Parts: sequence; C-alpha cells; structure tokens
Amino acid sequence: MYPVPGHLAFSILGNRYFHADWIPVIIGGILPDIIDKPLNDLFHITPYGRYAMHSFFGLFVATLIAYWLFNRKTAYSYMIGHISHLIADVDFNPWFWPFVEYKFPSGIDVLDILRAPSTIFFPSWILWESVLLGLAVFLYSRHAEKRTVQAAVLTAFAAIAIYRITRRRNDVLAAS
Ligand SMILES: [Zn+2]
Repeated sequence: MYPVPGHLAFSILGNRYFHADWIPVIIGGILPDIIDKPLNDLFHITPYGRYAMHSFFGLFVATLIAYWLFNRKTAYSYMIGHISHLIADVDFNPWFWPFVEYKFPSGIDVLDILRAPSTIFFPSWILWESVLLGLAVFLYSRHAEKRTVQAAVLTAFAAIAIYRITRRRNDVLAAS
C-alpha cells in the first residue's frame, strides 16, 4: 500500500543481489501502484487498486515496452523491480488477470488518507516499512560485508516482510 519506503526496500535488494540498474529497478518497484491505484481510487475504472499491473500479464507487457523503448539491461532491471513489487504485495495479486476472474477484496482507498486517516494510516505500517528500507540500505555498508551478516539481515528482512503482510490483512479487516 505504501509505495515508499517498503517497495523501495525491495527494489534496493534487486540492485544489491540481481545487479539491476538503479533507475529502472526503482521505477519497476513503484510503477504498478502508480498505474493501478489511480485507475481504481481516483477514476473508478477498475474494481481494485491492484489490477493489470499486479499480474503476470502486466509484468510481461511492461517489460516488453521497456525493451522496445530502451534495451535489454534496462528491461531486465525494470522486470526485477516489477517482480519485487509483486512479491511485496503477495498477500493479494490478481496474478492471472485477465485470464482468470477474480473476486476482489474490499480494499481501502488511497484517498482515505485525506478522508479518514485513521482507517489507513497505521503508524506500525510505516514503522515496519521503514525498518525494511533501513535493512536494505544497511546491506551496502562495510559492516555488512561478511556473508553471515548479510544472511542475518536478509533473514530479518524476510521475517518482517512476511509479518507485515499477515499484519496488514488484519488491519484492513479491522478497518473495513
Ligand atoms: Zn502494489
């Protein structure tokens, strides 16, 4: 839900471990929300804030466009970012859109930030997303050069990433 800093943290891992170029991997990490959220929340064209760009089909088409517009490395880097976004959103993605019909969960709306902040703005979300970002950035420091340290940081990252997904679903249910 919060494109920054959680999705940014996942994009950073794409640079760190998959040799993705910075700009396309970050764009890939946030573009799915930049396209899908307004289509639902602002324009009410789609049934849910995770739609075409949150599917394998969207991933494929967007990566192909990056390849046509730029080159193989940019398309690869973009693809890593986009995949990292889908992994971060793994609690619900319409993976096989438009080939499968989905029953979309009753989601919360980005505009609720303005209308009803208490239904969307949970400080604990921001906290955990920020911790993820901090861990990802830490992997570049000289304190994280040892493989054992990296393994520990990545384990903590994975644990928090999984925790925040289970936690998020409860929060959404509680808010709806
Ligand atoms: Zn998303």
